[in-house]
Amino acid sequence: MAFINENFLDLKENYLFIDIAKKIKAYQAENPDKALIRMGIGDVTLPIAPVVAEAMKKGAEEMTHKETFKGYEDSGRGYEFLREAVAGYYRSFGAEVDPGEILISDGAKSDCGNIVDIFGENNIVLITDPAYPVYVDSNTMSGKDIIYASSNEENGFAAMPDDSVDCDIIYLCSPNNPTGSVYTKEQLEKWVAYAKSKSAIIIFDSAYEAFIRDETLPRSIFCIEGARDCAIEICSLSKTAGFTGMRCGYTVIPKELTAYDTDGEPVNVFKLWCRRQGSKFNGVSYPVQCAAAAVFTPEGLAETRKNIDYYMENARIMSETCDELGIKYTGGKNSPYIWLKCPNNMGSWDFFDYLLKEIRVVGTPGEGFGPNGKGWFRLTAFGSKENTIEAMSRLKKLLK
Ligand code: PLP
Repeated sequence: MAFINENFLDLKENYLFIDIAKKIKAYQAENPDKALIRMGIGDVTLPIAPVVAEAMKKGAEEMTHKETFKGYEDSGRGYEFLREAVAGYYRSFGAEVDPGEILISDGAKSDCGNIVDIFGENNIVLITDPAYPVYVDSNTMSGKDIIYASSNEENGFAAMPDDSVDCDIIYLCSPNNPTGSVYTKEQLEKWVAYAKSKSAIIIFDSAYEAFIRDETLPRSIFCIEGARDCAIEICSLSKTAGFTGMRCGYTVIPKELTAYDTDGEPVNVFKLWCRRQGSKFNGVSYPVQCAAAAVFTPEGLAETRKNIDYYMENARIMSETCDELGIKYTGGKNSPYIWLKCPNNMGSWDFFDYLLKEIRVVGTPGEGFGPNGKGWFRLTAFGSKENTIEAMSRLKKLLK
């Protein structure tokens, strides 16, 4: 008889996107001639930059010749040329990480989900509410106890640590999905101090760091003093450079970072993660790593920046609309997400239905990201400028 991992039975069914799809389908069946503007998708829409595409083609071409063909990459950690490029990128915003501490992966979702493997079931895991669902799901699958730090209207949807609460692993995401909030240096210093006081480890998801415009805001946890003793950072090129369909990310684990066995003996986290990856992961394709390295060249950065500027212009249009309408929101300034309070105390789903029926705009009900999302709503800046302008003009007419 085959037995299941019963932790999977504790997973909450993620009805959010299924329910959204059902509602859209029903609406379209009744209104076949009415086009919808989709502002709920968290996926990028602009193509990858030309210099990046060229690098990928060159890498693919190399695979076709005996002299330059590549099989498995020996270290399993990613090609050195890419790890060097990522380290240089970190240096450009004031974070010192060694190329040897960078591990190339197929994206941030895999690493956020897989990192739980190296931490025991006895950990208490602190996750902000609301949050990107992978953190809760992957820790539930591995049977860990989860507690929540409240992100709410009062703290600008940027939860802060509470010294009276004990935990061992902490998930932080900044700029945040879904709330668009970004931690300041002082706030991250508090999280680092808290983590160190608990001998806990912060898993810092910086998937949206490239959207930070305000140079005083940290783009990496490693911009914070002391973070090397208590943090792992997970990032990817998905949102930075439109790699959602290419798949390439990186995780940084400082070589000195330790966690503990049940006897209280320190164990090196970097080695443990390499051991895990060595057994279960065989690396990212060579052409994709070539493309990824091209992102970090001056031309690559300039070209990908144009795409981010395009999305951020959408975010600006959305923020301006919320300002005009007097709607409370977080995000939109240093992130592609606008997290807004549903007007007139509407529930998230009521607001979803209202926008769908009245102005044919689709967003994401906040409660899909956790209980604190009730009454809040996420819009994304990843659509076209024309659609964003049109959706915002309809919203203004509707709510004025
Ligand atoms: N982290 C956050 C906060 C995200 O929103 C996403 C994707 O939407 C990811 C990680 C995963 O990105 P990927 O697996 O494409 O690198």
